[in-house]
Amino acid sequence: MGLTEIDLHKELKRYFGFSQFKGLQEEVITSIVKGNDTFVVMPTGGGKSLCYQLPALITDGTAIVVSPLIALMKNQVDAIRSISSEHGVAHVLNSSLNKTEVSQVKSDIRNGICKLLYVAPESLTKEDYVDFLKGQTISFLAVDEAHCISEWGHDFRPEYRNLRHILKRIGDNIPVIGLTATATPKVQEDILKNLGITGANTFKASFNRPNLYYEVRPKTKNIEADITRFVKQNDGKSGIIYCLSRKKVEELAQTLQVNGIKAVPYHAGLDAKTRSKHQDMFLMEDIDVVVATIAFGMGIDKPDVRFVIHHDIPKSIESYYQETGRAGRDGGEGHCLAFYSYKDIEKLEKFMSGKPVAEQEIGHALLQEVVAYAETSVSRRKFILHYFGEEFDSETGDGASMDDNVRNPKKQHEAKDDLEL
Ligand code: ADP
Ligand code: MG
Repeated sequence: MGLTEIDLHKELKRYFGFSQFKGLQEEVITSIVKGNDTFVVMPTGGGKSLCYQLPALITDGTAIVVSPLIALMKNQVDAIRSISSEHGVAHVLNSSLNKTEVSQVKSDIRNGICKLLYVAPESLTKEDYVDFLKGQTISFLAVDEAHCISEWGHDFRPEYRNLRHILKRIGDNIPVIGLTATATPKVQEDILKNLGITGANTFKASFNRPNLYYEVRPKTKNIEADITRFVKQNDGKSGIIYCLSRKKVEELAQTLQVNGIKAVPYHAGLDAKTRSKHQDMFLMEDIDVVVATIAFGMGIDKPDVRFVIHHDIPKSIESYYQETGRAGRDGGEGHCLAFYSYKDIEKLEKFMSGKPVAEQEIGHALLQEVVAYAETSVSRRKFILHYFGEEFDSETGDGASMDDNVRNPKKQHEAKDDLEL
């Protein structure tokens, strides 16, 4: 089918039931359908999956989709299967499949039924799979969460580095699509270089979240009381409070409970049943607040989270952006409050001291940006967007006033003041 014959809007409606493309989706999809290497940078929730799912469904052959998390892949496959009546249109290929299942997947690919093949990067290295895929029609390779390829990203996975090499073995001229929500210029450069697509068509959406209010407050020994007060002032609203340690999560959740706030803890030390119960309670609004480590949030899509509090400052601006990004998904208010003390920076530095030197250096550089963010006296939104390589006019830009520094200009907070306490 030639591109000119494809009505993308019609296909969008047919497969996904949507009448409009979101943001840059249509441009991205056009680029992919034409067979171009394509690079997509869009914030979380921007609709990246559809950018490769729709092209996969309407072009010949099977698209290989690499994604780091099996749980997320399963969700996507279920979602795709629910929109297409054809059985076998999407598969996950991983080590949990038995022989019969693997041969079913292979036969669906051979017959051209399987349009999307989700694989974890480590599975893709398996000789058997590579040999099999070599002989098949592959429409393109989509690398989701492509920042995993970069040491400068927040989730480096060395197996991502092999993708280019493996793809070469599978076939020549297979277009590559990289997708990420990490917008720092350094990470982007790494992605393009490592995927071998420096000439890719690049589509970058704005990372500005105009409905989020950014605020940093000094962290004192009254932190728990400060947080309790904030939550009480926001009675009945949904919120997430991030803490660095499991112990602090438990303590703070208790403090809030004692103060009559409907809060539950969430961290990887809780058993799976408790975790999913607490997550459901949050989604169903049986409780208002989740006190959590960063284990909480991946794939959580609660539209009306009204505040995200950081009891401890995160280790990078990307992490902060991702975590605060869970607030105000519906476009309504989202208060992002971080408590900051330079002592926490020292603590994070100490955590890194056991790591390889290269990792420490990167970690240190990322932390220094966090310090700069916490201590800046200029627009925090401008700071964040600048970090992501985006210009922002702090007077006229969208959401310019949603920021403590802009609302209450103050003198710069000095890190050393904290140390002398
Ligand atoms: P990302 O991977 O960029 O974080 P997702 O692919 O998970 O985002 O999509 C986020 C949400 O947006 C999903 O619920 C998806 O169904 C929805 N979505 C994607 N494209 C559209 C569209 N064109 N119209 C309406 N909703 C869309
Ligand atoms: Mg995604």
